[in-house]
Amino acid sequence: MPIGLIVHGGAGDWKEADHAAALAGCRQAVEAGLALLLQGRSALDAVEAAVLSLEANPIFNAGYGAVLNRDGIAQMDALIMDGDDGRFGAVAAVERVEHPITLARYVMERTPHHFLAGPGAELFAAEQGIALVDPARMIAPRRLDATSDTVGAVALDEHGNVAAAVSTGGIHEKLPGRIGDTPIAGAGGYADNMFGAASATGVGEGIMRSLLTFRAVEALATFRTAQSAADAVMPVFERYRGNGGLIVIDRRGQVGAAHNTQYMPTAWIDGDRISVAISQHSPAVSR
Ligand code: ASP
Repeated sequence: MPIGLIVHGGAGDWKEADHAAALAGCRQAVEAGLALLLQGRSALDAVEAAVLSLEANPIFNAGYGAVLNRDGIAQMDALIMDGDDGRFGAVAAVERVEHPITLARYVMERTPHHFLAGPGAELFAAEQGIALVDPARMIAPRRLDATSDTVGAVALDEHGNVAAAVSTGGIHEKLPGRIGDTPIAGAGGYADNMFGAASATGVGEGIMRSLLTFRAVEALATFRTAQSAADAVMPVFERYRGNGGLIVIDRRGQVGAAHNTQYMPTAWIDGDRISVAISQHSPAVSR
């Protein structure tokens, strides 16, 4: 069975000075996920590992380096979803967790629930042995003068399972308590072994209105390639005044990406190499 993995570092207006670091971070995330897929590990493990790597990198708006809300706090959301049975784990508005994606996975695997928010999510984290950090520790120096975007990953493992993972600090200067698309299944991410998986980035309100990733995964039923499915949902997204983009993987491990922002750094398994691109409209670079 083929394997596949694509990650993104967020759709937006990336400053040219940050392009190289964003692409290096995306490549590193694919390397982390690929290493697990090659060992026969699951798509869930691969997308979690890829997003962990992106969360740890302050160039991205997730985990350490997440953007700050109106009160100067990084309030983070994350989702992980298993294409096998549609189970997902999500967390929202957490401030004291270094890796929201792992907490989301714990919600999926260690509770009868799918979604925990705010103080309850942090209490659950502490009960699971996750060290809670001072919210000030999540603020990267660059965040005081720069914004960037959500991260995400979708993968196919050798057993034919797909998974999606997404993590974000949301929108710069958002109202405290605002939750975007990221932790919402079908909006920020979606996975279904029948078709494939997708992960979205951009202004969350438009992604929620259009249920962008659910549409993209459904589009895989009718379009021949992951790329054509990604392209096909963009006009619908725009009809909902959406601003952002998405990555898609199909059951054969083929990947696609589309965005209506200037940039969206991506990296993916491309045969026996890893390719990267800062924009779908610019040529991919291979290793
Ligand atoms: N989608 C995220 C949100 O609205 C933000 C982003 O992708 O940059 O919370």
